[in-house]
Amino acid sequence: SLLEYKTKGKLQKQICQVALDHFEKQYTTELGEAWASVRDVLTYPLCWQYAILLNKFSPSAELENTLHVKGYHPAFPGSLPYLPASFKCYIRRTPGRFPAQKHQAGKLKEYYLLNAASLLPVLALEVKDGEDVLDLCAAPGGKSVATLQCASPGQFHCNEYDDLRSRWLKQTIESFIPDPLINLIMVSKLDGRHIGDLKPELYDKVLVDAPCSNDRSWLFSSDIQQATLRLIQRKELPYLQFQLLRSAIKALRPGGSLVYSTCTLSKAENSDVINLILNSCSNVMPVDITEMAKAVSQEFTFLSGMQQHELLVLPEKGRAWGPMYVAKLKKI
Ligand code: SAM
Repeated sequence: SLLEYKTKGKLQKQICQVALDHFEKQYTTELGEAWASVRDVLTYPLCWQYAILLNKFSPSAELENTLHVKGYHPAFPGSLPYLPASFKCYIRRTPGRFPAQKHQAGKLKEYYLLNAASLLPVLALEVKDGEDVLDLCAAPGGKSVATLQCASPGQFHCNEYDDLRSRWLKQTIESFIPDPLINLIMVSKLDGRHIGDLKPELYDKVLVDAPCSNDRSWLFSSDIQQATLRLIQRKELPYLQFQLLRSAIKALRPGGSLVYSTCTLSKAENSDVINLILNSCSNVMPVDITEMAKAVSQEFTFLSGMQQHELLVLPEKGRAWGPMYVAKLKKI
């Protein structure tokens, strides 16, 4: 039941029919007509795009020149609040991947390749210089690196529960962040569900980039067993996400805010989890992020009908970013 996916005679990734059937059913209900075009992007890796986030700690005029020549342009307009000129992310409308930079001992990397929608949770968090920040689920570290391109936090705590991924996170930070700034970053390997009790009311901003069902990669599950297992585990994710959010709220100072994000389209892991938090925690309120959504709407397509404190990026051809759900809450 695996569909072979061929281009130019070369065997490419294989779409997993079990996952596709499941998505087809769920997302036709949840997204309506929008699902068909999203599905076309997700199932066709040749139209996938990659953004290039420049590392302000290792600036390269030559790299920027190459990007201009290759038709790249800045992804974000200058009108976003708290976005310094040093924050540079390049994209282009045509698909394809810019070559990744190899690790070189003692040399900082010049750029990080990522899905441009991954930057929206970071922008929504609006970290300002001197604020104490917790990145609760941080590996491999894309959003940690992006946060440090936006501002210089007071304390920056990056946490990742998984052993192997935590090492990957450390490596990312070492490849992008120079001395002495790197000494301000604390990397921990805790269960994010306990951090609220361990570090109560310690942070101004918390990012909860939660473990979720990753729609893009699940469609290419290696076999039926893996896909079936993932679909079973999918049912348990909302409770884990709820617990991580509750912990994040505990870790926030009153007046502080958090951003919750996932890379799934699934309502059960997105709006439903946030609504449950809003209905069960009397010390949080939603924060309007429509201004940010409007400011970036040239490059991103959003699902319509969402509430003001949330957005869902829908991939489409030429703007193949997402899926990415973002919600912002404030602790009273
Ligand atoms: N923020 C990362 C980035 O931008 O590169 C991606 C994070 S990924 C979506 C979610 C991460 O949460 C995974 O690395 C996973 O291992 C981690 N995770 C899973 N359960 C966790 C828990 N209980 N506490 C903390 N992290 C957890």
